Amino acid sequence: MGKLVIVGTVAFDAIETPFGKTDKILGGAATFIGLSASHFNVDAAAVSVVGGDFPQEYLDLLSERHIDISGIEIIKEGKTFFWSGRYHNDMNSRDTITTELNTLADFNPVVPENYRDAEVVMLGNLHPLVQLSVLEQMEVKPKLVILDTMNFWMDCALDELHHVITKVDVITINDEEARQLTGEYSLLVAARKIHEMGPKYVVIKKGEHGALLFNDDNVFYAPALPLEEVFDPTGAGDTFAGGFAGYIAKTGDTSFENMKNAVIYGSTLASFCVEKFGTERMQSLTEGEVNKRLMQFKSLTQFEIELA
Ligand code: AMP
Repeated sequence: MGKLVIVGTVAFDAIETPFGKTDKILGGAATFIGLSASHFNVDAAAVSVVGGDFPQEYLDLLSERHIDISGIEIIKEGKTFFWSGRYHNDMNSRDTITTELNTLADFNPVVPENYRDAEVVMLGNLHPLVQLSVLEQMEVKPKLVILDTMNFWMDCALDELHHVITKVDVITINDEEARQLTGEYSLLVAARKIHEMGPKYVVIKKGEHGALLFNDDNVFYAPALPLEEVFDPTGAGDTFAGGFAGYIAKTGDTSFENMKNAVIYGSTLASFCVEKFGTERMQSLTEGEVNKRLMQFKSLTQFEIELA
């Protein structure tokens, strides 16, 4: 069983969808990644920062899921990162209303000593220099480094982002962001351009239209499980990444074939995340439910065909 380091936001989110609206609730990339990766029983540590306003019960919630929170710094006099967003009717696109970096603005991440030899590092959506700092603290070269990012960082720290991208093995990015990063509309061309920036593996997330995994000329596509109701897509991308990273950390196998399974696990876990607001569904999710849906996924995508 491998160790997994997760860096990302631990946050307050306020979300508005066509189905309703929340006040400040638990959110953040590292939160969703951690909750998702916890399904693989790997040793996982979250590296992040919160303010004195962050409820202890939220931190307990992560600890109860066996996520090591010693790398989450609490700045008593500071405020926690806050993000709010509003989804459009199709639920596939959203507008960011507020991003308040607060304590994140001058965050110096510290990877716990006993995680500096982790096999897998998941660089969740965060300032690229913070992502880089985490990588630089690793004392043993990780087997796999995965990076997730978003348009916010492309807009305000593009050079730094380009730099950190050269140092990772896998990038997970959504379709619009892949287009923004490369200036290419075709996702095939965009993936090729991202390969040229460094990462051997490129995962392009397409929301309700699934995810594509690219490795040079190899391409794998996993649909999203068709769901009757999508309630709140917030955190689906992070949940996907957490499932992907957790599965790789558990299996220790970084081949393309195994990454296909990691994509399926990521997609399965993400399909639960969207069923309720924020982290609610991920908090109650059981192993039995995950396994059942994994089998549904298998029958959805499996077919045998012979040439006519
Ligand atoms: P996702 O829906 O997977 O893109 O992730 C949503 C999560 O990302 C929310 O819980 C937010 O707290 C977090 N988030 C939003 N904007 C940022 C940002 N600029 N940097 C880091 N995390 C963010």
